[in-house]
Amino acid sequence: MATVTLYRQELDTWDLPPICMRCGEPATLVRQKRFSWGPGWVLLLLFVSVILPLLFWVALIVNARLLKKMWVPVPLCERHRNHWLALQVVLFGGLAILALLFCSTIVLWGIMPEPPQGELSLTGWFCFATVTFLVIMVFPAAILQTTVIRPTQITDQSITLTSVAKEFVHRVREERSDARLGRTRLGRSDRLARAGGEVERIAAGLPDPRFQGASAEEAERSVNDLHIMDLPEARGGPLGARGAIICCLVFLAAVVVLVPIIAVTGGGHGSKVQHGNIEVFYTEGATKAEADRLAAYLLKDPAGAGHRRSVQLKKTADGYQFRMPIKKEFQNDQKVLQGLQFDGARISRDVFDGAAIEVHACDQHLKTLKTFPPRPDVRYGVVDGKIEVFFAANVEKADAQQLAKYLATTLGGEPAPARISFKLARRGAIWEVHMVVAQKVLQDPAVIADLRQARNDIAVNVFKGGSVEMHLCDNLLNVVDVLKE
Ligand SMILES: [Zn+2]
Repeated sequence: MATVTLYRQELDTWDLPPICMRCGEPATLVRQKRFSWGPGWVLLLLFVSVILPLLFWVALIVNARLLKKMWVPVPLCERHRNHWLALQVVLFGGLAILALLFCSTIVLWGIMPEPPQGELSLTGWFCFATVTFLVIMVFPAAILQTTVIRPTQITDQSITLTSVAKEFVHRVREERSDARLGRTRLGRSDRLARAGGEVERIAAGLPDPRFQGASAEEAERSVNDLHIMDLPEARGGPLGARGAIICCLVFLAAVVVLVPIIAVTGGGHGSKVQHGNIEVFYTEGATKAEADRLAAYLLKDPAGAGHRRSVQLKKTADGYQFRMPIKKEFQNDQKVLQGLQFDGARISRDVFDGAAIEVHACDQHLKTLKTFPPRPDVRYGVVDGKIEVFFAANVEKADAQQLAKYLATTLGGEPAPARISFKLARRGAIWEVHMVVAQKVLQDPAVIADLRQARNDIAVNVFKGGSVEMHLCDNLLNVVDVLKE
């Protein structure tokens, strides 16, 4: 394939030879083609804009100002009448699909929770598809681009085209020397007729590249004149209008796909910290330091050991919202859900210096199913060894600490579970010591006798002979039995 330089002045006064610019066969039509060309960095910007859709708009403006453009009446044979069509389809269709995949990936990345370890998330699949598609698209576009007639330079005076038929270049040279010798040239219609080709309306009309009339020719031209560098002009005109339509379609398609996803999932989860299997998303005023503390605490929790968990932390007026996804099979289990209030109380005590924790039981997308405000009777707490003692606002922390210390010394050596939970409450002059006990021990008289003795010891050693009741409770601290004096 050869290269030819054509001059503006020539194109204004000459007709190009009536042979196909692509293959050298007799031409049957003349297509008004607008070529664009720009310096290397402008082309690079256009390429990057494919990957970063935001830059696309910058590229549009830069393109409109810096790319040089030139209309050329290109003679073509029947076989090459749609010479640039395949490239246009690959490029613009590909760009539209790529933009859609890219936008979807970004949005999914923001809203989807992480899947269990070892599984690829929906976001991952979209990201994979985007990259794969980009790679798949680049090859045909690059190959097609090297096979079409395209400019290698455009200046104010001339255009240099490559991938042009040798025959065409020879004829242009011949005609140039003829013109220099002052030989008479044939009219366009005559020449095409002589060449044996059918004269298309577009060719029979005015071939003037500056022709701007709103005619049928103009309309037909606008359908056929996109080229790889012909991004739509910002200022309108037939190409600008088409570009605007393409952009609108891509935008609309993105909206149609993304809006329902956002509506269903409730938007982004915020920033993320990860400690081992624990992910904490933090948003709405919660800080990274707070999220880090929570993640470190959850990681130590023996109940959650080994499980991958994603929770969310938000700031509220007087404390925090702790949002936790609940497995489907437990979402209606009242025991499990009420147990979350103890998780909230412990997080308040161990992580947030007693700030109020509102627990939200959520689905897998961190959408709230049920809200649990802090439970007043276990609002505060102290820990001593294996013993934890919850207490309400009307109990002094020092009293709770004293009870915890006593219980830790008397029960600490027992082969007990990891933690024994108590609650200290105050009813007038009476101290209520609530203790979580297994249901089966309530039937054992020996155990009950031991617990009565323990009540007496606590009354003497912790509350200086005050009135103490021992409340035996289930593991949600609901009272099952009361041991009085
Ligand atoms: Zn041809």
